[in-house]
Amino acid sequence: MIKVLVIGAAGKMGKTVCQTVLDDSVLSLVAAVDANHVAKDIGEVLGGDNLNLIIDDSLEKSLQSATPDVAVDFTHPRAVMDNIRVCLKHDINMVVGTTGITQDNLKEIRLLIRSSKSNLFIAPNFAIGAVLMMKFAQSAVKHFNSAEIIELHHDKKADSPSGTALKTAELMEESSSTPIGSAHSEESVTGARGGKYKGVHIHSVRLPGLVAHQEIIFGGLGQTLTIRHDSIDRLSFMPGVVLAIKNVGKRKGLTCGLDKLLD
Ligand code: NAP
Repeated sequence: MIKVLVIGAAGKMGKTVCQTVLDDSVLSLVAAVDANHVAKDIGEVLGGDNLNLIIDDSLEKSLQSATPDVAVDFTHPRAVMDNIRVCLKHDINMVVGTTGITQDNLKEIRLLIRSSKSNLFIAPNFAIGAVLMMKFAQSAVKHFNSAEIIELHHDKKADSPSGTALKTAELMEESSSTPIGSAHSEESVTGARGGKYKGVHIHSVRLPGLVAHQEIIFGGLGQTLTIRHDSIDRLSFMPGVVLAIKNVGKRKGLTCGLDKLLD
């Protein structure tokens, strides 16, 4: 059995991860950490029977008492780095789905991981369909040099643009032999053309009712190509999260991106 601790266990993603771990024959939920619903039984928070697993707000204490094999983090961009530092200090393997991790954060992680026995797996998107969308975008950008990204998420999402949009733009830039073209147009309303990252315009939509969606529109002579992925339920992320939990112990150091586990 792989013993799993979930950080952000009472959140939208965390609850789905806890239920998925409980339903998996190889995984065992040993601790639930969250700033919310502290001292409640995680079973009650999941809407079922008590599991005798009390939500704690101290990651450090939970790591010491539950001794997990893997900690899974779905918290908040402002919390995730502290959680990573604590897990690396305690030599605990970690799967991180929380977005908003910057290039500077990655530099720090690469330094810290050298003096830790932990392996760390980070993915901005655990949905297999989203990984394929990024792969297809890398192929398309070789033939279509003009492209823009529209990403759409629920209205409680803390960061913009999404980690998936940033990753997609990075991969597209890497795959394109020429800079990605984008038409210049005066903005009479600030932000009308979105934000520009790696030469790609990114537009972030935040609305209730949405989960996680993204489309990349490529423009060429007399034609457009649209590649779109929709996560309509948080269950879409779970096969990827389970794959990462089961593999993080085998991948030395830092691994970024679910694609690394699919090839
Ligand atoms: P959420 O519903 O707000 O859940 C986050 C939970 O973490 C909340 O209960 C929050 O408590 C708690 N929390 C915040 N800081 C904490 C800390 N220091 N220690 C313990 N718990 C803490 O958010 P969500 O929709 O589940 O999303 C969580 C993250 O996952 C976001 O960054 C989101 O972008 C990302 N995400 C990633 C993927 C992927 O595939 N990689 C997919 C979906 C979402 P409070 O409410 O009290 O702050």
